[in-house]
Amino acid sequence: MEEDYGKQIQVTCWGCRGSCPAPYENRLQFGGNTSCYSVEAGNELLILDGGTGLAGLGETLARRGDVKTITILFSHLHLDHISGIPFFKPLYQPERTIHIYGGEERPGELRSSLEAVMGPPYWPVSLKDCPARLEYRSLEEGQRAVLPGGIILETMRANHPGRTLLYRITAGNKKIVYGLDCEMDSQVMEALAHFARDADLMICDAQYSPEDYPGHRGWGHSTWQDGVRLAKRCGAKKVCFSHFAWEYDDRDLLKMDRELRRIFARGFFAKERMVIPV
Ligand SMILES: [Zn+2]
Ligand SMILES: [Zn+2]
Repeated sequence: MEEDYGKQIQVTCWGCRGSCPAPYENRLQFGGNTSCYSVEAGNELLILDGGTGLAGLGETLARRGDVKTITILFSHLHLDHISGIPFFKPLYQPERTIHIYGGEERPGELRSSLEAVMGPPYWPVSLKDCPARLEYRSLEEGQRAVLPGGIILETMRANHPGRTLLYRITAGNKKIVYGLDCEMDSQVMEALAHFARDADLMICDAQYSPEDYPGHRGWGHSTWQDGVRLAKRCGAKKVCFSHFAWEYDDRDLLKMDRELRRIFARGFFAKERMVIPV
């Protein structure tokens, strides 16, 4: 039987920058925090990556008692996807259980890497001393897992340095694909089009403008034009572009967003705190 997640599933963007935070006046319309999204389905809350955007999300969660479980899915462990962890307030709440999922190059890497980064000499408080209960689970590419609340998680390997996973989340009859940090070539496009077939929402890597991409070939990122080609192939209903290079200011991004909407009405550029109904 299909789970009932209430009226709707809601996705919120807490950070849409790639690589480096950009808290500058001329970048605040789209936001300066690095990758973090939340997916709320009934009482379940999934967090996609823990970039600096995780701090703002944690601040709101710390005041909420209605969220039953918190699950964080890390696409990979690059700094722009984990650096919000020390500021995630639910870690300091003893009544919380937080499930942490991600891929690994070697057994135990997920836990040991996060504990290494959050602890002396990099940070005064050790992750392993935080009062919340943390449960770790490593994921393989091509794996299917059932998350708390009956939400189905499936994974695919991204074309990005290190073990990076793309996620497909199925909650009730809704499908969300989280596909940041992935460079497109014809083989990846083919596999990803299959993985994201008929997604209700696809979150796509748009690190570089088509003009800037050639100088960053092989860095593991895409352009919004790659995302449009992919969306047309897979039939995604809404496409949210994210993980913009921190160098782009609001004017650059508004220009790309306008161009995108002109040729592809189902696509838009993410803005921090944007709520996307699914
Ligand atoms: Zn990244
Ligand atoms: Zn990365």
